[in-house]
Parts: sequence; C-alpha cells; structure tokens
Amino acid sequence: GNRGPEKEIPFAKPGSLTRVFAVASGKGGVGKSSVTVNLAAAMAASGLKVGVVDADIYGHSVPRMLGVNERPTKVEDMIMPPVAYDMKVISVGMFKPPGNTPVVWRGPMLDRALHQFLADVYWGDLDVLFMDLPPGTGDIAISVAQRMPSAEILVVTTPQQAAAEVAERAGSIATQTHQQIAGVIENMAWLPCPHCDERIAVFGEGGGQAVADGLTRTLGSRVPLLGQVPIDLGLREGGDSGKPLVLSEPESPAAAELRRIATGL
Ligand code: ADP
Repeated sequence: GNRGPEKEIPFAKPGSLTRVFAVASGKGGVGKSSVTVNLAAAMAASGLKVGVVDADIYGHSVPRMLGVNERPTKVEDMIMPPVAYDMKVISVGMFKPPGNTPVVWRGPMLDRALHQFLADVYWGDLDVLFMDLPPGTGDIAISVAQRMPSAEILVVTTPQQAAAEVAERAGSIATQTHQQIAGVIENMAWLPCPHCDERIAVFGEGGGQAVADGLTRTLGSRVPLLGQVPIDLGLREGGDSGKPLVLSEPESPAAAELRRIATGL
C-alpha cells in the first residue's frame, strides 16, 4: 500500500527494558480482564510505570474496570492514551465507531489495530505493559507473538477441569510461537464461607495446577502456578465501579493474593 514504512514498536526493539505480559485464557468469563487490571494497578501503586492494552475485541471490559470514559486524543502523529490510576490505558473499544455496533474484526484488521496500539500510542518509558488478549487461541495471540516475541504469557483459568483443558490449549501455542509462559493464575479458586473458615470449591479444584503441570510437560520447562485468587464480591463490584480491588480493598484476601502475584512477577 501507500501507507509508508511501518513505525517501529518500541517494546519490540532489542534492548527494550519494558516487560510485556500477554494475559490469555481458554474461554471468556474466567476473570482474565479482572486479573489483568488488578495486577497492573498493583504494580502502578508500587511505583512502576505501567501501560495496559485491552486487546480483547469481544470483551473490551478494561476501560470500564478502570473507570475510563475518555477517548484517546491525537497530538501530531501520536495517540495520547487516557490515564487511570497512573496507568496508560488503550482499548480496542476506543477505536470503534460510536454506538454499540458489534465489531467484526478479521485477522489483518486486528493485526493492524494491534500495531497501532503499540507503535502509534505515546507510551513513554514503561516498566511493564499488560495486554489483555481475547480468550482462546485466535489471531490476536498470533499477532502479539509475531510483533512482540518477547511478550511473556500469563494464563488465567478457573479450577474447573473443562476450563483448565482449554486454558492449557491456549497456553500451549507458546510452543509454536517460542514465547515464554510466566505462569498460571487460578481465579475464582474458592469461595470463603461467610459463616466459618471453610473454603467452598464452587468451581471444583485443581485446574490451575493441572494447567501448570500440563504446560510444563508440553514446553519441557517449568511453568509455575503463580497463585490462587478466591471469589470476592468486591472484585466484581470493583470491576463494575471502575476501581480495582487492590486499590479499593487492599487488605481483602483476593487483593492480597493479586498483589503477591504482581510482586513475584
Ligand atoms: P474475562 O476477562 O475472562 O472474560 P472478567 O474479568 O470480565 O473475565 O470476569 C468475568 C466476571 O467475573 C466479571 O463480572 C468479574 O467482575 C467477575 N470476577 C472475576 N474474577 C472474580 C473473582 N475472583 N471473584 C468474584 N468475581 C470475579
């Protein structure tokens, strides 16, 4: 085409000091976006410079979870991202035409959008960039792998066996793309009983460990289970109200676990 040479993606340059985490899941609704925004917010609160890319074209719930209503602004040829809780935030939803028309983005379009997110947005010097991927093993995951081979994958799953199997499949594309898997996070791991100390295994048990073990076998190198985040009504409420749990209720068990995971990354 006549679009000229593509701009370079700063995070893909050799020697880039920005760590990039691509957060993946097998299916939707397991809490991938919730985990992404809370890990990101925990890191930003600890003083790191953090960016978040919402590349989940089906969900794009990141702006709502961070209370972002603004659209990015253009300054010369750069896109200035909205800022929430000290994080720069860009979502595929911000580039949609107004209204609630569903986006039917195909591979090449997605790839171009992804490139735009990464190359045309003014990120500045970031310590960490989180990318919330769509669920499954779709085109975006491949684009991310090609454009940012150094991105490390974080796999989010629930404890359920069926969820774990698809999560493992989503993670195992790392063998083809030669990406590192930073680890597995089990979300909705249990419900703390409101009346006693018991943990209620609402979605079963063992999914997170099963995914970590399965990926360890497939990749031939150890993939750790990084943590288990309990069911927490505040996590859902935080998602709806636009303030991540790690900031609104930092002492809650779910927030403490998310912070512990963020610190260990
Ligand atoms: P995904 O990105 O995988 O589709 P979301 O992060 O959008 O999933 O989470 C799906 C729903 O579950 C949201 O309403 C979210 O607030 C809620 N949720 C996620 N994790 C938890 C949790 N640990 N406890 C309670 N609710 C949760």
